[in-house]
Amino acid sequence: MDFVSTRGGGEPVSFTEAFARGLAPDGGLYVPRHLPILPQSILVEEALPYAALAWDFLSLFDTDHDSDHLIEIVDRSYGDFSDTMNAPLQQLADNLFVLELFHGPSLSFKDFGLQLIGSLFEEQIERTGETINVLGATSGDTGSAAIHGLAGKKGAKVFILYPKGRISELQERQMTCTGADNIYPIPIEGTFDDAQAIVKELMGDLAFKEKMRLSAINSINVVRVLAQCVYYVHAFTQLPPDNRDDISFVVPTGNFGNIFAGWMVHQMGLPVDRFVVATNQNDILYRLFNTGEYKPDEVQPSHAPSMDIQVASNFERFLYYHNEKNAKATLAQMEQFKKDGSIKIANFNASNFAATRSTDEDILANIRMVKEQYDYVVDPHTACGFQDLDLSSTHVVLATAHPAKFPAIIEKAIGETPTDPSLEAIKKKKMVSYPVEASAAAVRAFLEENGL
Ligand SMILES: *Cc1c(COP(=O)(O)O)cnc(C)c1O
Repeated sequence: MDFVSTRGGGEPVSFTEAFARGLAPDGGLYVPRHLPILPQSILVEEALPYAALAWDFLSLFDTDHDSDHLIEIVDRSYGDFSDTMNAPLQQLADNLFVLELFHGPSLSFKDFGLQLIGSLFEEQIERTGETINVLGATSGDTGSAAIHGLAGKKGAKVFILYPKGRISELQERQMTCTGADNIYPIPIEGTFDDAQAIVKELMGDLAFKEKMRLSAINSINVVRVLAQCVYYVHAFTQLPPDNRDDISFVVPTGNFGNIFAGWMVHQMGLPVDRFVVATNQNDILYRLFNTGEYKPDEVQPSHAPSMDIQVASNFERFLYYHNEKNAKATLAQMEQFKKDGSIKIANFNASNFAATRSTDEDILANIRMVKEQYDYVVDPHTACGFQDLDLSSTHVVLATAHPAKFPAIIEKAIGETPTDPSLEAIKKKKMVSYPVEASAAAVRAFLEENGL
């Protein structure tokens, strides 16, 4: 399968090349040239083992590795989950299900994309004999997932920028307590968007990118999106047959990566009625889906920090499909966005989507409500998915993180402190981080000094 840029520049590239590049050279994001139709055999079968399903799905796009090799890559990526289902579906009520995406090594859904990315980088380093420097920004969970995907791997160093003081202590510990010497967690002053802007600027300097053999892990990498498609299919195959009509997937959303993956697999034939964009008080996407205007605001730190984002990178992919794959129109809109700081989308059609927004008060109330009504504990991100639920049809809420990652907020809501053995272990370890001034120049100098 070939991949093309949402902005239409450059030649189509292979899966391996799109993976290695991350961002397309024209600044656009890679998307598959065509979306294949899901084989019906995937949908009617009872839940396949996760790795088998992932292989079936990914082999539609990765036509570079031979089957045996891809099976090995996929097995390596999804073997290290604490639940044998990887993404088990829990039923809370007749029409209410939770898809638990927090059984990976760093306890958030980001592991699904980044475990695969880690294995693919390893394969790339072996195949090409070239070392890489992985550069990314995180609002908390991407960084720890990337680090767990790459800690100790030969030929790779990992540099992760994060907004100092704006991620939870345990998230910071997951990044800074690995003991691996190829890992560089970098706290900066500012917000996630500031960190992301530095990464984008350095990635956009093609000479520097080439010289340092920089690789991306942010959700701009199309492989992350593809990896995340798989659990929507996995969820579908775990639903009782009576719950397979009129399905709404409710997705706690920040960067629009996770929910975009679901929408894409729906375009490939997964029967879904609706996607509910569940934002926290940083509600750019809520406003977009209600008004058609995409207009960033100031980031307000919230109880769901991994969603404290105003510029949703994957939105450009949605725009491209909304424009019926017209890359010229997408380029024009992105240029206008860059110039004006916002865009109003003409004839905005989002009939498959609904949106909700949760304040910090709502988050606490939802954690309490879910505990009282269903005797189930959700993390503050997942709690946004329980806002304004209408259970007249099947709803699948994606549980994006393990509640034990956010003990203070859970304690505040229900007076319980959830724990997880992997988190208890890192509480005693030494934190190692590398503070750098929040400018592209300073981060560039740090990379030049410490990179491979
Ligand atoms: C990253 C993250 C989100 C938001 O996901 P997007 O793909 O950025 O929309 C939600 N919840 C948790 C726990 C996360 O780590």
